[in-house]
Amino acid sequence: MKNVLIVGAGLSGAVLARELAGRLACRVTVLDRRDHLAGNCHTRRDRVSGVMLHVYGPHIFHTGSGRVWEYANRFAKFGPFINRVKAVTKRGVFSLPINLLTVNQFFGKTLTPAQARAFLAELGGVTDSEPRNFEEQARKLVGGELYEAFFHGYTKKQWGCEPRELPASVFQRLPVRFNYDDNYYADPWQGIPVDGYSAMVEKILAHPNITLKLNTPFAHALTASFDHVFYSGAIDEFFNYQLGRLGYRTVTFERIDADGDYQGNALLNYPDLDVPYTRVHEHKHFAPWETHEKTVAFREYSKETGPDDLPYYPKNLAADQALHRQYVALAKTRPEVTFIGRLGTYRYLDMDTTIDAALTVADEFARQPAAR
Ligand code: UDP
Repeated sequence: MKNVLIVGAGLSGAVLARELAGRLACRVTVLDRRDHLAGNCHTRRDRVSGVMLHVYGPHIFHTGSGRVWEYANRFAKFGPFINRVKAVTKRGVFSLPINLLTVNQFFGKTLTPAQARAFLAELGGVTDSEPRNFEEQARKLVGGELYEAFFHGYTKKQWGCEPRELPASVFQRLPVRFNYDDNYYADPWQGIPVDGYSAMVEKILAHPNITLKLNTPFAHALTASFDHVFYSGAIDEFFNYQLGRLGYRTVTFERIDADGDYQGNALLNYPDLDVPYTRVHEHKHFAPWETHEKTVAFREYSKETGPDDLPYYPKNLAADQALHRQYVALAKTRPEVTFIGRLGTYRYLDMDTTIDAALTVADEFARQPAAR
């Protein structure tokens, strides 16, 4: 029996643990320094309102992968939830992602899909060159006015830098639609576990070959006791920041308690720069199958991750990418350790990609002759 250590009881660590314990019959120890499992998708019932809280911010499960949707449904019953975001701006409240309603309301027009497509193409201007960054990509697809109203301020607040410093791929996460579909995601499967993500992760980890140890930080000396280590913490932290710190954004929340319905929707984005927060989330709307008299919402603020903050979003600016490549080279000197997950691989991963990547890591480990 292989004896494997997994550092981090988030989605990456849990899925990998289950695969190694089940398919490969490994003995798996999972450590997490926090006092709960599920990492940043941790959920818990709020004592005051009874609402299921997404403790580290909204997590909406959506995927285009049949294998991932099936996998997640083995461990949780998903309630139906479609993310329909609204943007609150000085000019009014608009529908996001940019769709025909947004364009028609914003410009006071009644364009058809084909007309709106031509209109935005004209606003975007004709350029043959590939957009080199977030701002160029956004301006090309939606033009200057929509860019300024919905993306410029929000992105500056969210990432703490100029949108032209960010890769175009960040904007490509968002669809631009020429119909009235206001579903934020384009994926065929979307939902939220009715008992929360922590219950889902607990079930994933419920296997006789898995031992879970919470409140237990990783220590380098531990590696000697295991055949292999999978590390889902931050790769720069693992190496004690010896090459420097990778950039991450973190978010903080300001809680609002109220009665009834505070804002009428799960998510309201605030793209204007003079509003200090990026968005407000009201968590009972993430579980429309529940009813609660009280409500709780959070204003979300974004900032640079300091030494004592929890890293959320890898920034991936050019300097970060270069530094990350150096850490990857350093990691090659440690073949007994595999880096996994959002922080281990320094990638902006959605939950479905996280599950898919963990399944792939398990497949790769299974193919190594020494793993059996
Ligand atoms: N974004 C924006 N305005 C919005 C929503 C998103 O400018 O109202 C930008 C922002 O830079 C964000 C990116 O688009 O990081 C991708 O959006 P997504 O909703 O995927 O971000 P997430 O909150 O999942 O990181």
